[in-house]
Amino acid sequence: MINPIIEVKGLRTSFLTDDGEIPVVNDIDFHIKPGEVLGIVGESGCGKSVTSLSIMGLLDSRTGKVDGEILFNGENLANASEAKMRKIRGNEIAMIFQEPMTSLNPVFTIGDQLIESLRIHRKWDKKKARVKAVEMLQLVGLARAKELLNEYPHQLSGGMRQRVMIAMAMICEPKMLIADEPTTALDVTIQAQILELMKKLNKETNTAIMMITHDLGVVAEMCERIVVMYAGKIVEEGDVKSIFQNPKHPYTVGLIQSVPDMREKKERLYSIPGNVPKPGSLKIGCQFAPRCPHAMDICISQTPSLTPFENGQQVRCWLYEDQKGADKHDRAIGQS
Ligand code: SF4
Repeated sequence: MINPIIEVKGLRTSFLTDDGEIPVVNDIDFHIKPGEVLGIVGESGCGKSVTSLSIMGLLDSRTGKVDGEILFNGENLANASEAKMRKIRGNEIAMIFQEPMTSLNPVFTIGDQLIESLRIHRKWDKKKARVKAVEMLQLVGLARAKELLNEYPHQLSGGMRQRVMIAMAMICEPKMLIADEPTTALDVTIQAQILELMKKLNKETNTAIMMITHDLGVVAEMCERIVVMYAGKIVEEGDVKSIFQNPKHPYTVGLIQSVPDMREKKERLYSIPGNVPKPGSLKIGCQFAPRCPHAMDICISQTPSLTPFENGQQVRCWLYEDQKGADKHDRAIGQS
């Protein structure tokens, strides 16, 4: 049995506003094993990115509050000091964002930015760090690696900047990489190349990846397990094959139905009706009820808990609370 590299237990993240504490991530649990690729899926506003910022300790403590446990190497990052987090960020856990300029500083050369991490975290001298920086740029498939060290981010294309950001994230060989919509802003060809590159690095370095995305195509391509989030809670979890073949939660069913199928000619693509509820507007019961075609009376009066299945899948839905519930679900899905 391999121990997880990270274990998140009862994570709650709230924003502190003039109107009080507003929960954005509400009591979530998950883990990632070394070398595993976990997809965190859901529409914008489901709490995916706030989960990653909570892990990285990147929320401003004046406006954000993190409770629960984020166990990494046996230490709880939820209450780690900023000095401790600075040692971990970029060294043991790295993050890549949708927009590379979030990480790249426009006034420093690519070389300065790549070398800085090694000098801070590894205490390497400039010469040794420069050799490693060239190696990393080559590893992420960038030609003219030596010349690139002297160039500035604005001189590179979007795809090249994304590769530089991956090189920067991987240069200290982190144990875990958090990728927040890393390919959303890129065109399809570059997107495929970047995903391929991340898969290659994952295989070669055994770095665990937490892939945050709204794109189920990316999940099918990259991930072994999926966590589906809705309104700050995990609503379904399981291995990719089980969830794609047999999604149980009506929200997951809707997300999968929304993926365009090239084999079918449809006048209009399916989209789940309605919107994700705003943080602060959450009520008791199932948060998906206003958008759910199978909602029952109990759904608006009581909050469902996660029901585990033998294959490791878990689902938060009243349709699955017991065997009778599972029958109800089959009937309901059959009618839809
Ligand atoms: Fe739909 Fe009820 Fe299940 Fe929520 S608990 S997803 S409203 S059936």
